[in-house]
Amino acid sequence: MPIVEPSLVEVQRTERLDLEGIDVSGDWNTFLRSRVAVDLDVKILDWVKGHPQGDTISRCWQCGTCTAGCCMHTDYGLQEFNPRYFIYLAQIGYEEELRRYADTVWRCVSCNKCVERCPKGVKVEEVVHTIGSYLIASGLAPESPADRFDRAYTENLLRHGILDEADLFRTYERLEGRKTPARQILRMGLTLLRSGRLHTGPFAHRARRWAQMRSVLRAQLARDARCPAPTGAADRTVAAEGGGVR
Ligand code: SF4
Repeated sequence: MPIVEPSLVEVQRTERLDLEGIDVSGDWNTFLRSRVAVDLDVKILDWVKGHPQGDTISRCWQCGTCTAGCCMHTDYGLQEFNPRYFIYLAQIGYEEELRRYADTVWRCVSCNKCVERCPKGVKVEEVVHTIGSYLIASGLAPESPADRFDRAYTENLLRHGILDEADLFRTYERLEGRKTPARQILRMGLTLLRSGRLHTGPFAHRARRWAQMRSVLRAQLARDARCPAPTGAADRTVAAEGGGVR
């Protein structure tokens, strides 16, 4: 692979150089200036690494196998979905660039081909999702309807130990700040009731001894969120002479 970054190449020239009778004048040697990353902001890296699903991020050596086999990137032609690049941006702390992909990172369909193929054992799918979570936690990406639904779902499970559709619907409506007309709700409720899929109210099935399990789940959720949301813009200085490579 040739070096394509001219600023890193230093050619040494000389007027006349005679070595043991041989004229070696001219461009007789080429040096590469060292390409050093200084003052990298490791805030994102630390955050992702500290997350139970992101702890393998440091293993990535940027081979690109994940992206080459990614079905979103190749089969579905979503070129900007590039797991290797997301990991790279997180590793170097390039927050500004990463926020451009705040939506795209969630396009992963969790096929896990990348995880199977990664030669370094990076749990790519989990790491990419954690990077997405970082963007939300740091306020760089607005919470999406899917995130709000996720929140409503979690609240619902923690409350009841089993899905209570009506309660889930109410919570999600509240989080979305919308109000579905009563007639529509009634129609939906009746349809679910007839199909035996409406579990709500005092007679709904409930998980036994849920209080115990709830505390276990709460502890896990607290562990997941143990890294505080980062604040402030990234203070990044990368590659003294080279800059980032995509
Ligand atoms: Fe990094 Fe693994 Fe993807 Fe290679 S396949 S770029 S090591 S995550």
